[in-house]
Amino acid sequence: MKTTAPLPKPAPRATEPAVLAAEIVERLTYRIGKNAAAAKPHDWLAAVINVIRDRVIDRWIEATQKTYEVGGKRVYYLSLEFLIGRLMRDAVSNLGLMDSMRSALSSLGVELDLIRELEPDAALGNGGLGRLAACFMESMATVDVPAYGYGIRYVNGMFRQEIHDGWQVELPETWLAHGNPWEFERREASYEVGFGGTVELPSADGSGDDARAWKPSERVIATAYDTPVVGWRGERVNTLRLWTAVPIDPILLDAFNAGDHIGALRESNKADSLARVLYPADSHIAGQELRLRQEYFFSSASLQDIVRRHVQYFGDVRTLPEKAAIQLNDTHPAVAVAELMRLLMDEHDLTFDEAWAVTQPTFGYTNHTLLPEALETWPVPLFERLLPRHMQLVYAINAKLLIQARREKKLDDAAISAISLIDESGERRVRMANLAFVGSHSVNGVAALHTELMKETVFRDLHRMFPDRINNKTNGVTPRRWLQQCNPELTALIREAIGDRFLDDTEALADLAPLADDAAFREKFKAVKRSKKAALSTLLRERMGLRLDPSALFDIQIKRIHEYKRQLLNIVEAVALYDQIRSHPERDWQPRVKLFGGKAAPSYHNAKLIIKLANDVARVINHDPAVQGLLKVAFVPNYNVSLAEVMMPAADLSEQISTAGMEASGTGNMKLALNGALTIGTLDGANIEIKDRVGPENIMIFGLTAEEVAERRANGYNPREVIEGSRELGQALSAIATGVFSPDDRDRYAELIGGIYDHDWFMVAADFDSYHGAQRAVDTLWADEATWYGKTIRNTAGVGWFSSDRTIREYARDIWGVLP
Ligand SMILES: *Cc1c(COP(=O)(O)O)cnc(C)c1O
Repeated sequence: MKTTAPLPKPAPRATEPAVLAAEIVERLTYRIGKNAAAAKPHDWLAAVINVIRDRVIDRWIEATQKTYEVGGKRVYYLSLEFLIGRLMRDAVSNLGLMDSMRSALSSLGVELDLIRELEPDAALGNGGLGRLAACFMESMATVDVPAYGYGIRYVNGMFRQEIHDGWQVELPETWLAHGNPWEFERREASYEVGFGGTVELPSADGSGDDARAWKPSERVIATAYDTPVVGWRGERVNTLRLWTAVPIDPILLDAFNAGDHIGALRESNKADSLARVLYPADSHIAGQELRLRQEYFFSSASLQDIVRRHVQYFGDVRTLPEKAAIQLNDTHPAVAVAELMRLLMDEHDLTFDEAWAVTQPTFGYTNHTLLPEALETWPVPLFERLLPRHMQLVYAINAKLLIQARREKKLDDAAISAISLIDESGERRVRMANLAFVGSHSVNGVAALHTELMKETVFRDLHRMFPDRINNKTNGVTPRRWLQQCNPELTALIREAIGDRFLDDTEALADLAPLADDAAFREKFKAVKRSKKAALSTLLRERMGLRLDPSALFDIQIKRIHEYKRQLLNIVEAVALYDQIRSHPERDWQPRVKLFGGKAAPSYHNAKLIIKLANDVARVINHDPAVQGLLKVAFVPNYNVSLAEVMMPAADLSEQISTAGMEASGTGNMKLALNGALTIGTLDGANIEIKDRVGPENIMIFGLTAEEVAERRANGYNPREVIEGSRELGQALSAIATGVFSPDDRDRYAELIGGIYDHDWFMVAADFDSYHGAQRAVDTLWADEATWYGKTIRNTAGVGWFSSDRTIREYARDIWGVLP
């Protein structure tokens, strides 16, 4: 519809408490159908979100309109995971409505903090990679980058973890049970996604007269759900677009009428399964056909949406790289490279070379891991059966690559087979990392060390061929969620001390550094930390009956359970400490609480065993009167974003103890330091850059470097020899292995500990003494309060650079070519 007269605009919405209160009651009555007296807490929550939502929508429409009018370039962030957590506090706080909303609700006799707890966690991710995508979405809105996040609207996101008798039990998380007031269904944004079938005119370079060569045998519809993402101060609102799958034929009536009631729902069930579950494996590939289907499903829907929008606004598909930057969050959406080629060639009639000239400058790829078990490859027969047209295109891209490599003569035969998109060393497999690398103009790592290791290991030969392509973008976290919202007490103290500049420029936290020498400020900093530890203690008492003393040192390791993250090293050290306290009760031990939290992939046997071990060790230590008041150990169930928001501010000591060279970056390390925890860690991932920023005297570094780990592994490392040389280590390991902590099943940990004696891939034995020594140095520091809080203040002051705003500005400038 075209009109010449300007359309009426809704009046800007008021934000005074009285107006908010009246609106909340209005929504409760007319949207939810309850009066205030009958309303349950969930109804209040729904009404409140409804009221906030309206204020978000105004800005959402404005931002979209603005980008459209100036014909601006957009960023498309493709990620199979978005670990966004709760949204209400984020939206209220970023819109600056916290105080108004709190008083509006209290005038109605409702407490904001109580209903806030009822909002489910949107746990559409496993861990760091998914949380990074969520921090990036918030920062893109904050620094005014027009962006869409694209992913899957999983009905069941990350599983809920319960601990039964010390073992992890996985239960489905039903985050959509009460509906999702944040999302908008967009039926008009629907696309067909095909699987299987045949390609009519197969030809080596993928060209052919028939414009639609692929005839899929199965098809589903992808439909969009949009969630607005509000930036700091509400300046811009971007869109997180998540796809769900709906069948083309919800019910096969012929089959139904013939009495086959189950078969009649075949299509429907098949479509359902696509957006049903998030694969719960972190840094490990699932390797199942459904996973590849999910990857293609969301990549295809997103690419169709991006191309449609571009053609609608700008007319010519060839200008796509000028108006769209597509970032691949790991290899999960790497098939998008082939999908864009298909759309350009088969739907828009470009030749292979023309399509390549559009595709390659449009994509950027972020690598997140060097672990071989996490590098995605798919068997050629599976890939070919599911995506026959894409298989052809992968071959065509590969042919182009290998011809160029041979022509340049820089690489020998071994190097050429290493860069190939097809791994021919055994069963033939498609290498998704190589496809993403070749199909992108930028390939980035997520911390300085990780980026250097990428050049030397996984991408050594591709890097020789394309020496300008790899670049580093050290990760960051959003200071809104990870400081302002989770720690309003510390935020208030900082504002009082250095003013408000850090709210808009996190690096202004540096102004705090001189206050590390101010005894009165240290006391206030300590009081805030103490109140956050008391809050965590209350939560853990209510949730798990745990009694903690907030004056003890809170030593916290929270992250996915993985052998390379070395929770086992931490537990073994706790056992050694326990032994020493019992042997030398006369020494000046510092009271310590060791907390663990994190989920294990359901199929990861050793990770689940490590959870059981933490619980077994906790039971013995916590029941031993000899260490009462000095050492307590607990495993906190169901670590997720909301629990992180309570635990990060309560930590005195942050455990970042991965085997050097194996943690790409880490972001938990940044959140904890920002909230005033001291890091004990290896020279791995972003720990190295944290050390550079806070100063080596304000971080407890121990252990082998990445280079030393590689050197030891190459030159026949002998863990037995190391264990024989360390009495503490030997005793702790044999206590665990012989069943001191598992009297009901003495062999439970024999194999797990046997692995340390036999090969110790993760260098637990090699790093033990150094770690143990660093822990005792922590005790000494802790005993000296002035020194301790001086260091923690310097941590908060030093880590402002790790804001995801800084990271996003670097992506915008170096990779996307969108300057806000
Ligand atoms: C930050 C975060 C992570 C990542 O933690 P690492 O220590 O970097 O592995 C994982 N899960 C949640 C819920 C987080 O908030």
